[in-house]
Amino acid sequence: MPSPASARLAPGVVSGQDYQTLLQACRIGRYALPAVNVCSTDTANAVLEAAARNRSDVILQVSNGGARFYGGPSLPDSHRARVLGALSLARHVHIMAREYGVAVILHTDHADRSLLRWVDDLIGFSEAEFTQTGRPLFSSHMLDLSTEPFEENMRESERFLRRLTPLGMGLEIELGITGGEEDGIGDSRNENGLPADETQLYTRPEEVFEAWKRLSPLGALSIAASFGNVHGVYAPGNVQLRPALLKEAQKLVQQHAHDGPNPLHLVFHGGSGTDLDQIREAVSYGVFKFNIDTDTQFAFAQGAAKAINAHEMAFQHQVNPYTGQPLKRFYDPREWLRSAQLSCVSRLDRTFEILGARGRTLCRTP
Ligand SMILES: [Zn+2]
Repeated sequence: MPSPASARLAPGVVSGQDYQTLLQACRIGRYALPAVNVCSTDTANAVLEAAARNRSDVILQVSNGGARFYGGPSLPDSHRARVLGALSLARHVHIMAREYGVAVILHTDHADRSLLRWVDDLIGFSEAEFTQTGRPLFSSHMLDLSTEPFEENMRESERFLRRLTPLGMGLEIELGITGGEEDGIGDSRNENGLPADETQLYTRPEEVFEAWKRLSPLGALSIAASFGNVHGVYAPGNVQLRPALLKEAQKLVQQHAHDGPNPLHLVFHGGSGTDLDQIREAVSYGVFKFNIDTDTQFAFAQGAAKAINAHEMAFQHQVNPYTGQPLKRFYDPREWLRSAQLSCVSRLDRTFEILGARGRTLCRTP
């Protein structure tokens, strides 16, 4: 195992050996990085700002819906909008991430069978970029074929890994089902966001071991293994998390990998609203990526609402009808979007701390 304690990375979007170094640093240092969903330059920059402020590396991810929004919801061809939106985000993050002085894993979120074409097309752009610059556009992609037969999930994952590995990119797969709904993935579930068969919320450790045996020889694999996770925030008592399942999966793999503790790179979906002790427990079992979306969306909205509510008149009149005072400085988007960003950054401060990531960037201090 390499020793990432002394490893130093150049700031910016990572791939290849740098990507692996970052994952090993999380593994050995027993911390995780927040993986924050973004859908605009405003949200992407807030995540970069939060990472820089916390001197931590970070994972920035986009869902298919987020990518479509980035491209513009009015575009008639939703597939093209999703591809070009993600491409545009990638260009933005490549240009800006370096300036913030931290390493960034750039990733795409859940892609079920209907979205494989989205990922395939994005890999096509990474291949073209790699030919020109020696770097891909994204660090990793996620497939979510968790509702399909295991064999199907493995076969597609093999196909994608064979394409990603030569580009220095990783693949995240899902085993078991994350409850709740995210951008149309999992929308056939009941009103509590749970699948009809709730045992599917808990991945069997043997299945994780089987997937690791088949896929890890092919490239950089990470696994979202369900342990009762649900996307979004629901009423308390709905969700029963069992992080010990992750520990069991690690033990099974460790017996065969002979590579020290926590050989699996695990991903925590549906982290919003989770009890702190359970987050820390999951991180101690090798979770390196902690997905957060609902909580940062809420923080962003709260920040915007604060600025709008404080100057309500500016959102109805350009000039104060009683005093004649111009209200431009309050309705300028830089005012209320900035308030939204700052609220999001504060929310992320807490996440970096909980995950043990604060101060752990592998990049040199500028
Ligand atoms: Zn998820």
